[in-house]
Amino acid sequence: MTAHIRPDLESIPAYVPGRSHPGAVKLASNETTTGPLPAASKAVAEAVELANRYPDNQSGELRAALAEFLGVTPAEVAVGCGSVALCQELVQITCGDPSDEVLFAWRSFEAYPIITQVGNATAVTVPLREHIHDLDALAAAITDRTRLVFVCNPNNPTGTAVGAAELGRFLDRVPADVLVALDEAYYEYLRIPGDHPDGVELARTRPNVVVLRTFSKAYGLAGLRVGYAVGAPEVIASLLKVHIPFSVSRVAQAAAMASLEARHELLDRTDAVIAERERMRAGLLAAGYRVPPSEANFVWIDLGASTAEFAEASAAAGVLIRPFAGEGVRVTAGDPHENDLFLRFATSADTVARFTGA
Ligand SMILES: *Cc1c(COP(=O)(O)O)cnc(C)c1O
Repeated sequence: MTAHIRPDLESIPAYVPGRSHPGAVKLASNETTTGPLPAASKAVAEAVELANRYPDNQSGELRAALAEFLGVTPAEVAVGCGSVALCQELVQITCGDPSDEVLFAWRSFEAYPIITQVGNATAVTVPLREHIHDLDALAAAITDRTRLVFVCNPNNPTGTAVGAAELGRFLDRVPADVLVALDEAYYEYLRIPGDHPDGVELARTRPNVVVLRTFSKAYGLAGLRVGYAVGAPEVIASLLKVHIPFSVSRVAQAAAMASLEARHELLDRTDAVIAERERMRAGLLAAGYRVPPSEANFVWIDLGASTAEFAEASAAAGVLIRPFAGEGVRVTAGDPHENDLFLRFATSADTVARFTGA
């Protein structure tokens, strides 16, 4: 006889690592293509020298640096083992009963349904409208059981974003006892003119709003696992209670500190990524694909039933992308030569004929 395991976990698919072909170009995980800055590598090497000692469980130095950068107090900042850990911790601090509801759009970040189920809560989803958050429908779906709402802006995997005014109107409709998490993993790639949605600004006057950002994307530290939450001190204090002790390593804290200090260099690089994103979208649109405007470091191609087949063909052409069966694929904007390889595949006469019906 084997040990008893929660039977409901059977409905969660076992983790299947993304296929990696030796030599293939990987545009599947929204990573940046350049390695850490020399200053970050140096900080990592120095931190390793103290690996026999536990890290600072409160990430005090990093929280202080983030607070200064964001214009808030350290009591309003929590750090997590990637912002995905903070997503899970938000479910833990808001939900305690299986009837408690976690609300989010679909399709959105694939971790949301999983962490909701792992947290023993009930997921409630509202469809996107033309690949964009339908904030009216989301507000209308709030019930007296709703405990937490995730709004991923820009949205992974469709890349679309809602502006500050629209987001503000939505937040005004949310009852004060419902926590809203604005997941801004791709914040640094946003270029909405005039209506820039800055979650930290929106949260300043709303104690039921918490913002999630990460060092994994524009800051280029996906392999070291560090993200952060900005919100009311009561929310942040609760996050610290459920935090897995010492789960943000000394190395991660040191690299994040160094990368934050050198942020101008890292943020300058986002312009090149955005230029590539726009170039990819233009090329795909010209070839007849349906590609919504993106405010992130990737593009979404609406492929419906041919999604899996398209992703297979792309892999065979040497480019790994992320398929969402039956819906579409997400393609990260990588280096120009990597994107060229993908565009050559996607816009070849053969592929176009097969997948755009043109
Ligand atoms: C990548 C991503 C995250 C966080 O990633 P971490 O590496 O855990 O910080 C969070 N939310 C969304 C929507 C993402 O795409």
